[in-house]
Amino acid sequence: MKPLGPIPAGYEALDGELAIAGRKASALVAEAGSTPLFVYSRQHLERRAAQLRAAMPRRIAIHYAMKANPFTPVLQAMSDLVDGFDVASGGELAMALAAGLDPARISFAGPGKRTAELESAISAGTTLNLESEGELDRALAAGERLGIRPRLAIRVNPDFDLKGSGMKMGGGAKQFGVDAERVPEMARQVIASGAEWRGFHIFAGSQALDADAIIETQAQTLALAARLADQSGAPLPHCNLGGGFGIPYFPGDQALDIEAIGSALETAFGALPDSLASTDFCIELGRFLVGEAGVYLTRIVDRKVSHGETFLIVDGGLHHQLAASGNFGTVVRRNYPVAIASRFDAPVAEEANVVGCLCTPLDRLADKGGFPHADVGDLVAVFCAGAYGASASPALFLGHGPAAEMLV
Ligand SMILES: *Cc1c(COP(=O)(O)O)cnc(C)c1O
Repeated sequence: MKPLGPIPAGYEALDGELAIAGRKASALVAEAGSTPLFVYSRQHLERRAAQLRAAMPRRIAIHYAMKANPFTPVLQAMSDLVDGFDVASGGELAMALAAGLDPARISFAGPGKRTAELESAISAGTTLNLESEGELDRALAAGERLGIRPRLAIRVNPDFDLKGSGMKMGGGAKQFGVDAERVPEMARQVIASGAEWRGFHIFAGSQALDADAIIETQAQTLALAARLADQSGAPLPHCNLGGGFGIPYFPGDQALDIEAIGSALETAFGALPDSLASTDFCIELGRFLVGEAGVYLTRIVDRKVSHGETFLIVDGGLHHQLAASGNFGTVVRRNYPVAIASRFDAPVAEEANVVGCLCTPLDRLADKGGFPHADVGDLVAVFCAGAYGASASPALFLGHGPAAEMLV
């Protein structure tokens, strides 16, 4: 048997079934009308945001990176829980605006912004995190055409990365941001242009579970911001310190110690250099805020045995939950937390593979996991499905169509 990932806190059995926010999986499926289904829990979102606020210094604002989960009801729920939103495309900006989010609380990072995307951000009053000198030229020209003063920050490609992070997004040659040594010149240009100077965005990596690595990166980020601000010759109004807070997905993963990060930041804020004394700081988090609040529910449609191995074949798969199949940024396939939702408190009785209904061997949601005996009609839950699930999976592949989504 291979171990399964750890089921996040806050999921209990009710009458033998998995309950999400106090409601049984079967009742949620009945309400949705069908499987597969993503269920996101407002309680979980609120609890997580409250834990984070309690751990972080008051001075730091919390932004939600909506690429983790752009479902409109989730965006609206997050609107009361965070201070700002980060979008990474014109499409995300349009979704954020349609959800009623305040454009002044939104910033827009992402390489390769088209001129039309720059224009819609400038028109809305959203801050642009510029990814290149060329983007600065186009943003200034767009501002001039529109007769609107653009709000401009520079995304810095730092000369370090976040150690132990699942996805490195800084350090060395990157398509993200502007190499640190060219930033002061570019910042002077922004300031001289008459645009509203919004400071730096410095993002070094993602999915780290080691608090010491994040603490070290934040210290390096503050030092870099101070140096670049000094060289830019103007006080720094705002600095986005990035994020990288991970969640446990796999066997042996331990939850991130956010208290340690918060107290290190508090200490760092107590000893800021003059150039950062009046800077507003934020962090931007995606999966940490929403990942554990989501569960993917799918129904077993067939049970079969091949060469002695049991296969539970479900009506969902990697077309909705690519990451759980091990095909979204992982090198070695390991099991996500997966359970039989309709027999949530039953003891392990057999080893089984949970596979999706796609005609490809990549579509495996659990490999040789230990499960209670389950059969056709039973519901399977894949946890940690609140981030990079529905919107980060190839829903068109094989024509089964998208999953339903609901916030409860
Ligand atoms: C993807 C991304 C995030 C969110 O990453 P998580 O690992 O979900 O926290 C934040 N900021 C930027 C710039 C990103 O590209």
